[in-house]
Amino acid sequence: MSNKKPLNVEIRKINTTNIYRKFLQGGQMSKQELAKELQLCIPTVTKNVEELMNAGLIQPTGVKENTGGRNATAYSIVSDAKTAIGIEITNDHITIAVLDLLGNIILSERYRGMFSDTQDYYCELGRLVKEIIQKAGLQEQNILGVGIGLPVLVDSNRQKIVFNKIINLDSNVYDKFVQHIPYRIELFNDANAAAYTEIWKNPNLKNAFYLMLSNNIGGCFVLDNLVYEGDTQKGGEVGHMTLIPNGQKCYCGQSGCVETYLSATNLSNLTDGNLQRFFLELERGDKSFSMIWDKYLDYLALTVNSVHALLDCDIVLGGYVGGYLESYMDTLRERVEGLNSFGNGAEFLKTCNYKKAAIASGAALNFIAAFNESI
Ligand SMILES: [Zn+2]
Repeated sequence: MSNKKPLNVEIRKINTTNIYRKFLQGGQMSKQELAKELQLCIPTVTKNVEELMNAGLIQPTGVKENTGGRNATAYSIVSDAKTAIGIEITNDHITIAVLDLLGNIILSERYRGMFSDTQDYYCELGRLVKEIIQKAGLQEQNILGVGIGLPVLVDSNRQKIVFNKIINLDSNVYDKFVQHIPYRIELFNDANAAAYTEIWKNPNLKNAFYLMLSNNIGGCFVLDNLVYEGDTQKGGEVGHMTLIPNGQKCYCGQSGCVETYLSATNLSNLTDGNLQRFFLELERGDKSFSMIWDKYLDYLALTVNSVHALLDCDIVLGGYVGGYLESYMDTLRERVEGLNSFGNGAEFLKTCNYKKAAIASGAALNFIAAFNESI
């Protein structure tokens, strides 16, 4: 039996998709405007608009003046018709963010708390998720899923952990999350999730490498506006490229990894774990901090130069340190340019656009994108 759908069903689906895409751009549209922009007849638009209204995805939100002088009803998306939740878990904090269909953060909260692979911890996490759902006033049946960003590598099914040396959780952590968070759950590598957040609002980010400069160093290659994970989901792990042969010992078991030189803790450990204070002291001209920062920028320039030599694309600096780099970009670009064998500048180096809850957002956005694609 053929699994092909009749042509008119296919066309109707294409029309619905195109109309929904217009609403995803966030504005108000009348049927007349939709008909004009999509070159459809009014009855077709009316039928599709009704379908989207019945699905609760769009609603009338005002009137628009028609070119003929008559007012027309304007419709816009019901942005919270569906929502998704993203969670970032690290060794010492949890971030939970709720996102709507437009990818906007409805609510995000950050909690301090040491990770422990115990029943109590997972129970508390479940309670925090429940609390944020109530606080944001979400309809439970409209929650598409919960994405969890972790400093681990996960398999292509987003359920199993394939590499984990940073956080003390076991490989069946997925089952533990499922017990306490009653929604569809997917696990994400932290850097991949953060890179996905950058891609989401920047469709022009065609090819890029996202370098996550947090307490751990991660990376993600964006190829043609999609996350490239590698054949075994271990791609982009620049944190474990050797920067200094026989250098500092890394937790991975090797020595001299980028991770040991660029970890944000190299800076924040000087100010009791407070990275913001490190940068404040640096700006005030603290000499010892300046020397450490100078060395950090050298290591960063070396890393960036290697990545760029290999990939020849934009490099987006994110993570905790990425959020403070803006005023140091000129000096960093100079250093990178000095290392570049082809001497053609370092304008490819950018800072991240999304500094708040980037990992949690990316973990949630995967559900949003899948839903929007399905319409
Ligand atoms: Zn390493």
